Amino acid sequence: MDLIYTLKYCYAKDINPGGVYWKNQSMVVSKTSTIESINPANKAAIGRVPLFGEDEVRLAVERAWHCFDEWQIQPLKNRAKLVANLRKVIAAKADEIAKLISEEVGKPLPEAYFSEISGPLDTCLWLTTNGEKLLADQPVAMTNPLLASKQSLITYEPLGVVGIIAPWNYPFSIPMMTAIMALYAGNTVVIKPSEKSPLIGIKIGELFLEAGFPPGAVEIITGDAQTGAFLSKSRLGRLVFTGSVGGGQAVMAQAANALTPVSLELGGKDAAIVLPDAPVAWTAKGLTWGAFTNAGQACASVERVYIVKGKHTDELIKAIVSNTQKLKVGPSSDPLSDLGPLIDQGQLDKVAAHVEEAISMGAKALTGGRVRHDLGGFFFEPTVLTGVTHAMKIMKEETFGPVLPIMVVDSEDEAVELANDSEFGLSATIWAGKLARAECVARDINVGTVLINDVLFSHAVPQLPWGGLKKSGYGRGHSAFGLHDLCNLKHISIDSASGAHRVWWYPYSPSRIKLAQGGIQLLHGGLGKRTSGLVDFVSNLFAKAEKKKQTAPAEPAEKAD
Ligand code: NAD
Repeated sequence: MDLIYTLKYCYAKDINPGGVYWKNQSMVVSKTSTIESINPANKAAIGRVPLFGEDEVRLAVERAWHCFDEWQIQPLKNRAKLVANLRKVIAAKADEIAKLISEEVGKPLPEAYFSEISGPLDTCLWLTTNGEKLLADQPVAMTNPLLASKQSLITYEPLGVVGIIAPWNYPFSIPMMTAIMALYAGNTVVIKPSEKSPLIGIKIGELFLEAGFPPGAVEIITGDAQTGAFLSKSRLGRLVFTGSVGGGQAVMAQAANALTPVSLELGGKDAAIVLPDAPVAWTAKGLTWGAFTNAGQACASVERVYIVKGKHTDELIKAIVSNTQKLKVGPSSDPLSDLGPLIDQGQLDKVAAHVEEAISMGAKALTGGRVRHDLGGFFFEPTVLTGVTHAMKIMKEETFGPVLPIMVVDSEDEAVELANDSEFGLSATIWAGKLARAECVARDINVGTVLINDVLFSHAVPQLPWGGLKKSGYGRGHSAFGLHDLCNLKHISIDSASGAHRVWWYPYSPSRIKLAQGGIQLLHGGLGKRTSGLVDFVSNLFAKAEKKKQTAPAEPAEKAD
């Protein structure tokens, strides 16, 4: 069936052959070539966008490469100016953006502001104030005296078109922060937003255009996993994928043929370790927020808690339960809502199944545990479980929902062992009074980030690296490391081509072998060997090149008849 639909922006070649961005165009689209966006709080359709096919993806990538030719040679100052403009545009439209985020993925407005909008704004500020230094050529000091006449530089050059495949749980901050960094470094980007948050993806495209970025610098390709697959098979300078483990594995395979470098930011099963001296009220508040913010749908949510038994253990669990019971579950349209819905029926079913299985295996729900059918959307009660074990999915698989399972353990060592007993390694938190002790524990956890006495905040901070180990992926986003990952790190070595000739160049001879042996001992040998090394090195340094007699090649043997 065909539908008449008004697209805010359209990029598809049949509607937009000249590559010009058309605003508010009415078009006839077939239902199968579009996807619908649903508000998870009431299951109402709130928009429809094109589903990009192979040709449309190819054209978008081509437009981005075309734009890259001009964009990469812009002086950094020009690109910084547009990033500064973007900051103004985002700040001016913050309310509109926050409303769209909360409508399309259901998160309460405070989360849309703090966890989604603040990070990209901070990224703009960080780059416009520090970016020049971060991308400046870096001289490299060398230790070998034979290289004294050389100067080496590391330069940071753009890679080309960076593909960004994004999830729905932080639909604005995740693609935005990477896109801003990539563009600042001189790349252009093609963003594939999640099929569950395509309108936010389109909004991202609008914001860049409004800030003055040239068409083609930021291409938005709406669609599903298949659209993502078309992108990951394309010619790209780098592909940054954020999503599930299965999605990451597929994308890596798809990118293998073109040998596109891939960064993978995948799932987590983040542990919180509570030491006996942890401040009770602070820890209870932190864990409650860390488990239930975004309805538990954060890669770094607190997914499991290990409390090292102490005299405050019962008090702490009581405080967590009491905090949880005070949370209001409801749509983001109600400013008093603390917890929004899950993203869809599939996610709701998965959370319910994890809780059900845990209870059937002996866990106890101290509060929550049920689907809130009465609210109309995909809501689940914030749930605190005790009596859980590592035989249960709730402690091993990513639940991605509002569930806080607690295990009380006998020792710090047991807590560390259990925290590391996971196929994931994204982040962890430690809650403690004695910070030096907590830091020691932090060093024993196999993850990419450990936060002591706080949770989840660091993803929104552009200066701090983000990424994990094991099935949580690899590569580091954000920070100077992430910025440099979006660059071709080029080494340039400069030599004046004067002075002593290179002792490792031709011609080779017995005296050259002696010189090499002497040099090795002089620089790296034991005390006794250094003097003889010096003598061998110096005495052979100016040795006259031995005359070499060429040996004539042997005549080929005559062919036998
Ligand atoms: P997902 O893997 O289903 O989808 C993510 C994106 O990848 C979407 O745009 C999707 O269309 C695309 N995609 C899916 N399969 C693909 C394929 N085979 N080829 C190409 N593209 C494909 O993940 P999701 O449900 O959107 O996001 C939730 C997951 O993301 C959770 O596991 C969460 O922990 C993880 N996540 C990780 C981080 C992090 O920084 N480590 C941040 C946010 C979310």
